Amino acid sequence: MNLLIMGLPGAGKGTQAAKMVEQFNLIHISTGDMFRAAMANQTEMGKLAKSYIDAGNLVPDEVTNGIVKERLAQADIAENGFLLDGYPRTIEQAQALDKTLLELGLTLDGVINIEIDPSILVDRLSGRYMCRACGATYHKVFNPTKVENVCDTCGASEFYQREDDKPETVKNRLEVNIAQGEPIIAHYRELGLVSAIEGDQEIANVFADIEKAVDSIK
Ligand code: ADP
Ligand code: ADP
Ligand code: ZN
Repeated sequence: MNLLIMGLPGAGKGTQAAKMVEQFNLIHISTGDMFRAAMANQTEMGKLAKSYIDAGNLVPDEVTNGIVKERLAQADIAENGFLLDGYPRTIEQAQALDKTLLELGLTLDGVINIEIDPSILVDRLSGRYMCRACGATYHKVFNPTKVENVCDTCGASEFYQREDDKPETVKNRLEVNIAQGEPIIAHYRELGLVSAIEGDQEIANVFADIEKAVDSIK
């Protein structure tokens, strides 16, 4: 099974994707995680991406399409299925993905679209913090670690706030993503692939709705 998870920054894609890959044994492909890893390792691509990401802008399509295509071409994807998170984010990326899937003989089975009123996203993003070691995502108020200062996933105890979650950047990110997102959803609606999920409920309840949607796709 091959799926996309979509939603504005802070909608809960990463949080739900982590649960979905465990439950459905899919391979998680997050372009945001790939860029953050490249930035941490200070690769050429990471340095390029950083200038866009820190300003809340999108990394150019040719860079993003290239890394996704490279990952989708690896053998584990055809064996296990994928969950793409944070991609496509422009209509050009959606068209590139259609082409790549065709070339690789893969089919997209469904799109999970987490719907949310943008007004609540500023609180979500300003309280988000990340595990430095494994990238797991938490929230100061809504989803803290079970033990204070210890990552639930890997046990490490160093956390950071994403540069692009600082208030100066969040507004631009939301504007960019709102403008780019709608035509993409329209494209997948035309193909009959979209399941709408209410994002403004507790994390466990969002996941329960996603499970129901995925069960009806399988
Ligand atoms: P969020 O959790 O806020 O939705 P991500 O972690 O998915 O954000 O992405 C962080 C940043 O990485 C984006 O704001 C953007 O600059 C860059 N990025 C991630 N995915 C893409 C993409 N598909 N196209 C262009 N830029 C991307
Ligand atoms: P995205 O990947 O879409 O940007 P995240 O999964 O990183 O979103 O979630 C953004 C922030 O909101 C994180 O701090 C996360 O812990 C928190 N969060 C995720 N889902 C919910 C929810 N249903 N209710 C409250 N907070 C949530
Ligand atoms: Zn961790």
